[in-house]
Amino acid sequence: MCGIVGYVGAQQAAPILVEGLTRLEHRGYDSAGVAVLASGGIRVAKRAGRVRDLAEGLPKRFAGKVGIGHTRWATHGAANDVNAHPHTDAPAGQARVAVVHNGIIDNAAALRHRLTEQGVELVSDTDTEVLAHLIALSGADTLEGKVSEALAAIEGTYGIAVVHVDFPDRIVAARNGSPLIVGVGEREMFVASDLAAIVRHTTTVALLDDGEIASVTATGFTTYRQDLTSTAKTATVLDVDPAAYDAGEHESFMSKEMHEQPAAAERALRGRLDERFGTAHLGGLNMDARETRAIRRVKILGCGSAYYVGQMGAGLVEELARIPADAEAASEFRYRNPIIEPDTLYVAVSQSGETIDTLLAVQEIRRKGGRVVGLVNVVGSAIARECDGGIYLHAGPEVAVASTKALTNMFLGFALLALQLGRVRDLSIADGRRLIDGLNRLPAQIEEVLAQEGALAGLAERLAEAESLFFVGRVRGFPVAREGAQKFKEISYRHAEAYQTSELKHGPLALISEAVPTVAIVPADELTDRNVAALHEIAARRGPLVVVTHADVDLGDLEGRPDVERVVVPRNERELDPILLTVPLQLLAYHAALHLGHDIDKPRNLAKSVTVE
Ligand code: GLU
Repeated sequence: MCGIVGYVGAQQAAPILVEGLTRLEHRGYDSAGVAVLASGGIRVAKRAGRVRDLAEGLPKRFAGKVGIGHTRWATHGAANDVNAHPHTDAPAGQARVAVVHNGIIDNAAALRHRLTEQGVELVSDTDTEVLAHLIALSGADTLEGKVSEALAAIEGTYGIAVVHVDFPDRIVAARNGSPLIVGVGEREMFVASDLAAIVRHTTTVALLDDGEIASVTATGFTTYRQDLTSTAKTATVLDVDPAAYDAGEHESFMSKEMHEQPAAAERALRGRLDERFGTAHLGGLNMDARETRAIRRVKILGCGSAYYVGQMGAGLVEELARIPADAEAASEFRYRNPIIEPDTLYVAVSQSGETIDTLLAVQEIRRKGGRVVGLVNVVGSAIARECDGGIYLHAGPEVAVASTKALTNMFLGFALLALQLGRVRDLSIADGRRLIDGLNRLPAQIEEVLAQEGALAGLAERLAEAESLFFVGRVRGFPVAREGAQKFKEISYRHAEAYQTSELKHGPLALISEAVPTVAIVPADELTDRNVAALHEIAARRGPLVVVTHADVDLGDLEGRPDVERVVVPRNERELDPILLTVPLQLLAYHAALHLGHDIDKPRNLAKSVTVE
């Protein structure tokens, strides 16, 4: 969470920083600020609100060719002007150090106490402010030394960028748990928490590792360990299309990314299907057939939507490979002293590859000798680097907080993994080919669902009127319902609760009424009759229904009732149906939020890439 951008070069820094922050705003958007090194010292502009508020209020003369910027997702202290970053060691005019920080300093309270006893006056409620003072108070004679000394005193996670009046040619940056990259331009250099901030200027970057410090001047950069021994890192050119970071003619990134799903799905499958042997090629897993056969259990770890798609993935692994599999919230897993088994394959799922809860779960597994593979979208991200192997999602950059195309590609990643695990066990070549055919049909079928957008928008507007909704499904349909409810609540702010259809009568049926609609996932499968029976129980309590289903499912006398709507998705192989049932739920959430006038890409209280615990 939170965005960091820094510039050092021959141009004026402020416009570059503000533009970079605009591109990072999806990562935190409660306040924003910039600091530049000017001839008279450090100039800071910061305020609560969006980057455009900062830009409008920026003084005309805000000159300086070295600067840092930040867009915040508050963890310590309210979102107000004082708590906004950058933080300095002294009031305007006297400041020598400015710092921007992404993450959490766990021992901030103790450090605040110590600094106050030394006579330091702290003005904000943030954990970050202590860093500015620790750097200013350091006796080291280089900025790198001061930063290194300050970091030695703190516990927690950080990505930071620092400027200092006595070292006006540089930015010093450091990372531990929060992403940070150095961008290389023509006699100008950048620092950023995400490539999106600088992609228009350069795609030549160096990715910092945890525990690394970078010293960046207009002409180059040097990287160090925290003890200031060199790590001699070099930059590489990333193969990305800068246009992929623009919403183009779409009204939001979420809309653009939903419509990119057919193309993204094709990319996820390209080169990975082996028709001849009815299996998948996943070279990045780094496991031979013998190791693959030895797997006795699969444990999937993710957070939010990645957790729910992980549940879909566990279903795929159990069905295709007949290996016991389950998914768990990574944010809980690590705190219960998990038992790590040598013959379990752990799978970490994260769009950004920087989700801190998932990353820490990966580290816990590896510390205990477990084998973990990653399903990650961002190439070179922390989780991708920490895992024993992995499957890149190839969804392209995803900017909207609500994940759509990355989620779809996660499902495909699981389908490929399950196919490969299945084919070294008991899945027949014929079944393997059946699934490959199904996978190949998916992109066009996703397109068919997207083509129903007009009708789904009308339905969504009616659902948006309800204060509270249920999303229900069974077995393969239950994670679909969970993901549908999650998407609906995160952008429409309506209360949406997912339940197993079979559990309704054990409690939540008490809440069903004309005012509480239910979105029911009813695929044509071995449970259709049981699902339709449950729909009758809801209808008997006058609960309005939206049934997401297949054309050949017969709803009996529910058909044609004014309070029963049908959303029909194309059929694929039953194991692959969950993803096609998920796509209309994205459109329902999207149009409900649009109808209610919400900021689709930047939902209240949330942010992309959850890099704080
Ligand atoms: N912990 C810091 C704060 O609350 C940084 C939060 C962030 O990552 O945006 O200011």
